Amino acid sequence: MAISCFVAVSRETPTQALDSFRQHLQARSASRRCECAQSAQRTPRQNHILAALPLHEYERLLPELKPVALPLGCVVHGAGDRQGWLCFVTAGIVSRSYVTQHGASTAFAVTGSEGVIGVASFRGGDSMPSRAVVVSAGQGYRLGTGPLTNEFKHDGLLPRLLLRYTQALLTQTGQIAVCNRLHSVEQQLCRWILTFLDRSSGNELAMTQELIADLLGVRRESVTEAAGKLQDAGLIHYSRGHIAVLDRPRLQAHVCECYGVVRREYDRLLGRQNIHGLRTGSGDRESVCLANHGA
Ligand SMILES: [Zn+2]
Repeated sequence: MAISCFVAVSRETPTQALDSFRQHLQARSASRRCECAQSAQRTPRQNHILAALPLHEYERLLPELKPVALPLGCVVHGAGDRQGWLCFVTAGIVSRSYVTQHGASTAFAVTGSEGVIGVASFRGGDSMPSRAVVVSAGQGYRLGTGPLTNEFKHDGLLPRLLLRYTQALLTQTGQIAVCNRLHSVEQQLCRWILTFLDRSSGNELAMTQELIADLLGVRRESVTEAAGKLQDAGLIHYSRGHIAVLDRPRLQAHVCECYGVVRREYDRLLGRQNIHGLRTGSGDRESVCLANHGA
């Protein structure tokens, strides 16, 4: 039922704007469905997959792409929800997590403007036991299964990009499972900070203790301890739900190997040089990576 989470972006009257603001405040409490809209919609091409499409393919898709707001806390799809659409994220971050019978949760992947939410819509499985929740407010474009199915009938680039993205997502999921089992909470926090940073602009992140604890699947005390160590080392400044990264090179030297493994795999699968090879079939190489927002 995830689709109710989205609201198409439109111009608002003052009354509507006030309603949206109220709804935004409501959306800040945990595990709720969002109803607010945001202004200043980004263009579809700010999603890396859509940006990689040849012009004729992009123009064929454009009338079918519906803008949607992704406010903080929005449940893009819940566990078991039918995913009758694909959402191309253009800004913000969506976390994929599983909630246990006892209410505990751990994230196993995040997606920003490099990817999509709703992979079950084209994998034939319709739904997943996990949920997708917005952890950094943003926007996206939704594509229904009808036009998506039509794209799979064409010999276009989109289906191949979606398959590659799914492989990259599998890599992220597997590596986070390894990281959660073998590496320290401090290293895991470093990995999440860098992963979020790659999908954000600037060096500051809005990450509450609650959010970090949900991502890591640990108690808040463990988050406080890990963040304190990074702050004492001069890598970050952590205050009132905000993390300012003070020294990214040293943070990258401090993080476990998992961050680099995932990032390199995203670059290999979705980097511009390989996308160019997919488009031409020539395997020609360019030096610039498509995934310049990181993986
Ligand atoms: Zn790790």
